[in-house]
Amino acid sequence: MQYRRLGNSGLKLSALSFGAWVTFGQQVGRDEARELLALAWEQGINFFDNAEVYGHGLAERVMGDALRDLRLPRDGYCVSSKVYFGAVEDPRPTQCGLSRKHVIEACHAALQRLRVDYLDLYYCHRPDPDTPVEETVFAMDSLVRQGKVLYWGTSEWPAARIREAAKIAREHHLHGPTMEQPQYNLLHRQRVELEYAPLYPELGLGTTTWSPLASGLLTGKYDASVPADSRLGQAGHGWLREMVFGDPDSRRRERAQRFTHVARELGEKPAPLAIAWCLRNPHVSSVILGASRPEQLRENLGALDLMARYDEPVWARLTAAAD
Ligand code: NDP
Repeated sequence: MQYRRLGNSGLKLSALSFGAWVTFGQQVGRDEARELLALAWEQGINFFDNAEVYGHGLAERVMGDALRDLRLPRDGYCVSSKVYFGAVEDPRPTQCGLSRKHVIEACHAALQRLRVDYLDLYYCHRPDPDTPVEETVFAMDSLVRQGKVLYWGTSEWPAARIREAAKIAREHHLHGPTMEQPQYNLLHRQRVELEYAPLYPELGLGTTTWSPLASGLLTGKYDASVPADSRLGQAGHGWLREMVFGDPDSRRRERAQRFTHVARELGEKPAPLAIAWCLRNPHVSSVILGASRPEQLRENLGALDLMARYDEPVWARLTAAAD
């Protein structure tokens, strides 16, 4: 495993990490989740990602049970949660958003579900237009000062809002945002590569990026049809199919197919190659993997070796194929 600093902080995360979104508690039960976490840990992964909204709290419960069963040393791994969407269906106004009330209560609830005393990373899952940024920054700082959160950050915030949060923190001598969690893959590059570019030197911002395979689209598994045992084949996941395939103008399926074609011409499996492409960006602190089976996770860990196998013209060809 390779370890990278989370931005300018002293925290070293594994370059590949592992998340629970739509798998834990939905596609996979407690035993499989424990097996996946055990494999990730054995392979040197030290960051497990979660959020209050994943399975409305169930993903955190499943992860918390697995961490307890595995008896992993608490100082050897990092675990996260995210606040914004709420942990119940149809949340009431105080059960979602980034108000001081919800940020603090959501943290306490996540600690209970995950069975830990503190969160290593805690994210504001989206910007909240109804809460002043200042209120959220003060709430996050108070959690850090209480030892309930070690590093806080944002997910899918516009660059201007992250800058505003950092400025408020600096002016009031508070702990500012350390990291952002954006989507980043061959089909979705703009925010990480362009919008956030000034923030890396300016704020020392780290990134833990999501959906390196665009939910599996970049593996080629959806080229012909939607397999019934896949994420997009699950009942009730129509919203996810729409998100992943996009509208016809986005040509996402066609672009993914062009990428998988070039990957196969190179004699490589598309999944680890697509993940290696993300890892090559020096502003990526950790690529968060998703997997519903151990064999997927094993295959994807091959990305670490692939990073150095090809030189720039090959990566440029892969990038162009997915453009
Ligand atoms: P990916 O884009 O890597 O998709 C993972 C899915 O792709 C797997 O569950 C599996 O789906 C399929 N897959 C993975 N490897 C293979 C393989 N080798 N061969 C075939 N299929 C494969 O990542 P996610 O979308 O899961 O995102 C990763 C993590 O990022 C999440 O768990 C979460 O922690 C975080 N995240 C954060 C968000 C945010 O807003 N901050 C939003 C979304 C995710 P299948 O089960 O169908 O086989």
